[in-house]
Amino acid sequence: MPENTTRLFEEVCQHARRTAVMASINELLGWDERTQLPSAGAEHRADQSTLLAGLIHQRWVDEKFGGQIEELSASLEAEGGQSPFSSSTSIDAGKSCSTKKGTVPDAAVVVRRLKRQRDKKVKLPQTLVEELARTAVMGQQAWQEARRNDDFPAFQPLLERTVELKREQAEALGYPQCPYDALLDEFEPEELTANVGPVLEKLREELVPLVTSIQQSGRQPDCSVLHRKFPVEVQDRFAREAAAAIGFDFNRGRLDVTTHPFCCGLGPNDCRITTRFYEDFFNAAFFGVLHEAGHGLYEQGLPVEQYGLPSGEFVSLGIHESQSRLWENLVGRSRAFWTHFYPRAQENFPVALGDVSPDDFFFAVSEVRPSLIRVEADEATYNLHILVRFELERALLDGDLQAADLPGAWNEKYQRYLGITPPNDREGVLQDVHWSAGLIGYFPTYSLGNLYAAQFFAQAESETGNLAEPFAEGDFRPLLDWLREKIHRHGQRYTAAELVERVTGRGLSAAPLVEHLHTKMGPLYGL
Ligand code: ZN
Repeated sequence: MPENTTRLFEEVCQHARRTAVMASINELLGWDERTQLPSAGAEHRADQSTLLAGLIHQRWVDEKFGGQIEELSASLEAEGGQSPFSSSTSIDAGKSCSTKKGTVPDAAVVVRRLKRQRDKKVKLPQTLVEELARTAVMGQQAWQEARRNDDFPAFQPLLERTVELKREQAEALGYPQCPYDALLDEFEPEELTANVGPVLEKLREELVPLVTSIQQSGRQPDCSVLHRKFPVEVQDRFAREAAAAIGFDFNRGRLDVTTHPFCCGLGPNDCRITTRFYEDFFNAAFFGVLHEAGHGLYEQGLPVEQYGLPSGEFVSLGIHESQSRLWENLVGRSRAFWTHFYPRAQENFPVALGDVSPDDFFFAVSEVRPSLIRVEADEATYNLHILVRFELERALLDGDLQAADLPGAWNEKYQRYLGITPPNDREGVLQDVHWSAGLIGYFPTYSLGNLYAAQFFAQAESETGNLAEPFAEGDFRPLLDWLREKIHRHGQRYTAAELVERVTGRGLSAAPLVEHLHTKMGPLYGL
């Protein structure tokens, strides 16, 4: 192994790690902005964040860094794609953990992913980057105003401009098959529209009749029990207990309150999650915390010593979402979970739940009901909300749909897939921030998360035996250990498609999610 190659790789890793530290400072500013910042401080915060974002971008496009990556990449290729560093080579500058198994970064993985990320940043002209950023700010302002006034035409010109710029972005980045590939790639690297599209279509074909038969069932849950009085401080305590029980490490993370819940990994031992509390609704905080803690478990399971390198980072938004959905729905909305937690829930909320049977409570938290608002949707109908957006944003990008016709197309699809028509655009096409912020290609990652979650969970069950038994005892370790081993510790060693294939033995598939929903909802709704 040539010594100069080793040195070069060390330098590249150090550069990448420092860039990651800088990016984490910006993340911390973002966390503070959403949880603590006084409103008058917003302008100065924007200055701070913009300055840092610029410095981070400079580090990425730095020519020396680029040259080093190219050189390493060429020497890796000469080695036939094999890493020139054997696993016994102590290449990692992080001395603290260099003897632990798996701590040597795989040079082939690191260089390939860094090169890919950097190439994308270099390809975008500075003028386009600035125009995208400016349009996103103006777009969000226009959207907020339009939503408030239920006035889609006021938002339409900004949407048209955004779509135009996203087309330019796709052309600048290049794509394997269609422009949408380039946008999807921003969130789901190396995934293809031609791969995702048919699977989501299959999911829709299965879900629409399932949801219809659930609607027509004479058996429906009484969800009013979830809207009784749940004191906020007790909700907070109970949600923390559940997050800790599934494995969220509060020594390496925290939970705070925000309007829009999120999870952010600020560094190897600092993962922040947030939630919101409603005194008259149980689900929002409890399942919200399980969801964000699921994201947090992934962050806390990434290899600490690979921090700042692709080998220490999450694969894609879809894989990240698979972890949150898995804990929120497949674990948190399972009967076994509530076998353990319902007696505790009744102790914590004696007034609200004292007279509610475990079966009635379980049916209520498992409710499937078509609704207008995506973020409030249940585990079955949620994907239909995504399908609507996925189909419409592709049509917009391809020019098959004009922005002016979007509200009509939106309402028509809601009627067709969910059986309901929004009474206005505020509860329809104007409900999400994404398009106004330039996030086209983002929506499918939510459904990919649901699909991957069901695939992973089915595989975990078949490999570990019966997960329901330990769950009913309050023991979630067997599942977490499995996820750590199969998914978390690999960082970006594999693409999402490679990972799911490797872990489950098959590619992206709608079957396990459909199967899960039939198995669960069939007995509940008497189908
Ligand atoms: Zn999420």
